[in-house]
Amino acid sequence: MTAGGVLTSRRVRSLRPSKPLVDAARPLGYSWEDERSPGGPLFPTLTIFLAGAECPFSCVFCDLWRNTIDGSTPAGAIPQQIAMATAEAGVIPKRASIKLYNASNFFDPRSVPLEEDAAIIELLAPFERVVVECHPRFISQRCLDFAAALDGKLEVAIGLETVHPSVFPRLNKGMTLHDFDDAASFLTRARIALRAFVLVAPPFMPEDEVLEWTLRSTRYAVEHGATHVSLIPVRGGNGTLDELQRTGEWVPPTLWQVEEALEGALGLGAVVTADLWDIDSLATCRCGPARIARLSHMNTAGTAPPRASCALCGWH
Ligand code: SF4
Ligand SMILES: [Zn+2]
Repeated sequence: MTAGGVLTSRRVRSLRPSKPLVDAARPLGYSWEDERSPGGPLFPTLTIFLAGAECPFSCVFCDLWRNTIDGSTPAGAIPQQIAMATAEAGVIPKRASIKLYNASNFFDPRSVPLEEDAAIIELLAPFERVVVECHPRFISQRCLDFAAALDGKLEVAIGLETVHPSVFPRLNKGMTLHDFDDAASFLTRARIALRAFVLVAPPFMPEDEVLEWTLRSTRYAVEHGATHVSLIPVRGGNGTLDELQRTGEWVPPTLWQVEEALEGALGLGAVVTADLWDIDSLATCRCGPARIARLSHMNTAGTAPPRASCALCGWH
């Protein structure tokens, strides 16, 4: 399908299935979890999934556009959604963190209007740490101003995805590895924490290299200042990945790969966690629940418990 080339944004968009109607008047959802901090303790963390404008990029693996609206985010929608979610989420515990995930780039004015930063910052006062996600192209002075005005500490999450030299350029990320490096040093110089997303089994990655490149990419992120790396098992269903799977250019991750990658990355000097969203879909054997519980333990404890064994699939 791609003959070794890069899929254009137009092609990626043309393959998308239809998306549900999203209402910017309320958040898509919120959840509490305990998240390990670089210092070790667990912090109660509220994640709010915000509804807003779509990201201008069209990465071949991305399905976040499903949770976005057409056009720009309406004025006032983001502060309103944060206020609703924090009110519904109950009493904010001490030392709580908040993640504002808007399925796009927090510092893109189409997604989060610049003039709403002050209102947002006021709503974030109870939180010790604030995590937002953003593509390097949108990390600039606004990010510094936002960090300086916050009561808590800002952490910016960037999708590094992979450092595989022939896979990265084919992801249609709208950036180079140099852009990641520059954004990482920009944040580090400003004492803003960096989180990186690393994909487990991106498209175009040979199956037998998945583990090696997940670990190499995680190490790269840590060497560039990331204090938290989140491993994201790639999910199908965005149209492009399904097409690439048909042509043999994408093989979905296995639970074994996620487990091995997380276990191998635990000693790399940062908090490394695996994104367990929809992880049940990777459980193909009866040992699946035990393995997912083990992943969950690694996420919160930062250590790998011994494996059980499974005669059916040979897990041990
Ligand atoms: S930059 Fe992030 S949100 Fe935008 S298309 Fe790529 S992965 Fe999706
Ligand atoms: Zn099994």
